[in-house]
Amino acid sequence: MGEEPACGWVYVDNAATTALSEPARAAMEPFLGVAGNRTDGPEVPLFGNPSGSHRIAREATRALDEARERVAEALGCAPGEVVFTSGGTEADNLAVTGGLPVREGRPVCSAVEHPAVLGVTRALGGDLVAVDRTGRVDLDALAEVLDLAARTHGGVSVVSVMTANNELGTINDIDAVAAVVAEHSPGTPLHTDAVQAAPWLDLAEVAGSAQLVSVSAHKLGGPKGTGALVVRSGTTVRPLLHGGGQERNRRGGTHDVAGIVGFAAALGEAVAEREARCRRVAALRDDLRSRLVSIDGVSLTLGDSDAPVLPGHLHVLVEGVVGEELLLLLEQRRICASAASSCSSGASAPSHVLGAIGAEANLAPLRLSLGSSSGPADVRAVAEGLEWALRRVGDRGADGARRRVT
Ligand code: PLP
Repeated sequence: MGEEPACGWVYVDNAATTALSEPARAAMEPFLGVAGNRTDGPEVPLFGNPSGSHRIAREATRALDEARERVAEALGCAPGEVVFTSGGTEADNLAVTGGLPVREGRPVCSAVEHPAVLGVTRALGGDLVAVDRTGRVDLDALAEVLDLAARTHGGVSVVSVMTANNELGTINDIDAVAAVVAEHSPGTPLHTDAVQAAPWLDLAEVAGSAQLVSVSAHKLGGPKGTGALVVRSGTTVRPLLHGGGQERNRRGGTHDVAGIVGFAAALGEAVAEREARCRRVAALRDDLRSRLVSIDGVSLTLGDSDAPVLPGHLHVLVEGVVGEELLLLLEQRRICASAASSCSSGASAPSHVLGAIGAEANLAPLRLSLGSSSGPADVRAVAEGLEWALRRVGDRGADGARRRVT
């Protein structure tokens, strides 16, 4: 990676989204609007609808099948177990509901799930399970919730525990979660939202014991609006979107062939480069962490915990400044970070994740997430930018003290 940030911006919000990778862009290009009457396009135009049967449709089917095989290989499942969706949100909703009509029983999820899981769990009257101080699900609490659900409301339709948390980056032990589910609610499918984990971890290894696994293309160099739900054979999912019977009747709607092809290319590259990228980015993150903790007023949200964390994630709490103000100051230095997760509410909504781990509410949360384009210059810029921002806040205080958030 270059010594200086390539685009003049310091982008440390890779957990929100990543730039389209070159292999993904190149793979998608032929599928993006080459008109059928052009003479300089491919011999058979690539705008076909894979649900059709003529030659142009079959070309699209071929691309879709190849992409499905690549995605399945990368995720460690069979091609028929991949259901393409419009992204992580749809995959989560499909997994938790089980489609329409929704599965019997009520869903259970951890208290720090992404709103795509949390919202639908709440809408279905489900139960939340407490997490520990690092955001990992409390296995004893999970067992209790499952036992109680079996006694009081006819069982559990699905258990959903994310592979890695989007704000903190902490990684759950999905095998251990699966063992608790098997003991306390046998037969209940386990879903894991692996949207954040997919760029960094081998999902065949870490999410292999879950029956349902969500991934999203745009977190790993693919296009926005594409993702997948792995539905292992033996687990039933009906469509949430009813339509033309696509995806073996599990998700209706004409396929976004370009997006799916780009997703497969990005995922293939992410897997091929995973080991080296994890090592390089974790070293940058560790450097950033040691620089930030030496700044007065900055503390690690996870304290001195040795819980496993994704290589690109660093979450800190900053004293004496409001979260939004801190982000605006950093942006003046062309640094793009985030306060919590990146939802439509932006930075202003208090984080349910920080609430669930009992983080000090008076401190400003700052999530810094490095990615494949991050380099040493980004690390230096963030450390200097944060020091500068805190000096600015301090200088503005009437008596020289920083403004406290109450
Ligand atoms: N799950 C997690 C953990 C996420 O971080 C996100 C995105 O922020 C999603 C689900 C939603 O994915 P998508 O943006 O593809 O709908």
